[in-house]
Amino acid sequence: MSAPNPAIAGGAALPVLKERGQREVFCGLTGIVWLHRKMQDAFFLVIGSRTCAHLLQSAAGVMIFAEPRFATAILEEKDLAGLADANEEIDRVVARVLRRRPEVRQLFLVGSCPSEVIKLDLSRAAARLSQQHGPDVQVLAYSGSGIETTFTQGEDACLASMLRAQGPSEDAGDDLLVVGTLPDVVEDQLQRLFDQLGVPVRFFPPRRARSAPPVGRGTRYLLAQPFLAETGLALNDLGARHLPAPFPLGAEGTRAWLQAAATEYGVDPARFEEVVAPAEARARRALAPMRERLAGKRIFFFPDSQLEIPIARFLAREVGMELVEVGTPYLQRDHLGPELALLPDGVQLSEGQDVERQLDRCRAAAPDMVVCGLGLANPLEVEGMTTKWSIELVFTPVQGFEQAGDLAELFARPLVRRERLKV
Ligand code: SF4
Repeated sequence: MSAPNPAIAGGAALPVLKERGQREVFCGLTGIVWLHRKMQDAFFLVIGSRTCAHLLQSAAGVMIFAEPRFATAILEEKDLAGLADANEEIDRVVARVLRRRPEVRQLFLVGSCPSEVIKLDLSRAAARLSQQHGPDVQVLAYSGSGIETTFTQGEDACLASMLRAQGPSEDAGDDLLVVGTLPDVVEDQLQRLFDQLGVPVRFFPPRRARSAPPVGRGTRYLLAQPFLAETGLALNDLGARHLPAPFPLGAEGTRAWLQAAATEYGVDPARFEEVVAPAEARARRALAPMRERLAGKRIFFFPDSQLEIPIARFLAREVGMELVEVGTPYLQRDHLGPELALLPDGVQLSEGQDVERQLDRCRAAAPDMVVCGLGLANPLEVEGMTTKWSIELVFTPVQGFEQAGDLAELFARPLVRRERLKV
């Protein structure tokens, strides 16, 4: 089923193709891979099936840990006889994990899609376990289920669960909160820029549970990731105020994102230029050779990570790629308004998915590059298309000035590889 639904892009209303059909996406458990790297004293216990355990192992398989901070409590058939038994089993597993890992300060019970797991009230289990193991350890629950969700929604649900548990703070101050998991290297670079601008900043999620920033009426927040709808609502409920901005991808996006904070905190424009211009110039220099390789190449986005619209804006405006179709699982107008305004006129947006119809459109358009999930990439490569895995965009440091060149290179590399294969 398709229906037109206008979005504002390039200053004009554009039709959005809305589709509700079969989808090809990963589930929210995937987020554990980058969340557990960021939150150094957190443990993620998936309550799920063997499939969940396999997914997690293969998603995290590239990393070798002596003691990874995630695990799956597998619900076997016999566990399903009674929910009371399942709760006892969860309590037992949590106690064992915490005995073994005394450094853990935050434990997440992560729900999944088997109907037996859905029947369990994991929030209640988390409250019970927090009583048992608090105040040293806080136990929270969220769902990573793949039913009707995309893989980045796992992070959204996780961060929202943390904010809802912490409640509003009376003395939160007026610090800026940067929200969304960023690799430490990127966070450190952004911290330096905010320090030079004189903007008081905190990052969420914190690296350690104890350093979670308080949130209250004075808090203003900038999103670092475009997939945080529920987290944004939780922040608003705590009294925080969103600063609308494009996302910090590419030279232009990063400048506009910093500008939103600078304007809010009254940074002197001359000081802003003094701090931002050298880093921006470096980013533009790094982008110049990428533009030579990518300008005029036609790109098609399947909906997957929810990063599609900001990345498409970057590729169109900073390296001259031509957008054939930009698919996104959800069009979060509240958070994506400033991005939509920067898209070129005439771009075809699509929201949701009907994978067979979208594949037909993609084949008919024969783009130079396709951005899609792992499930579609291999078949499309076999058909002769050049693909980019959207999940790589979440696993790789791509935000900020220093990463602008690397972000473009992620797209240049598959084209170069394909060219070489032709020789
Ligand atoms: S889609 Fe559902 S069952 Fe499959 S791995 Fe994800 S949470 Fe587990």
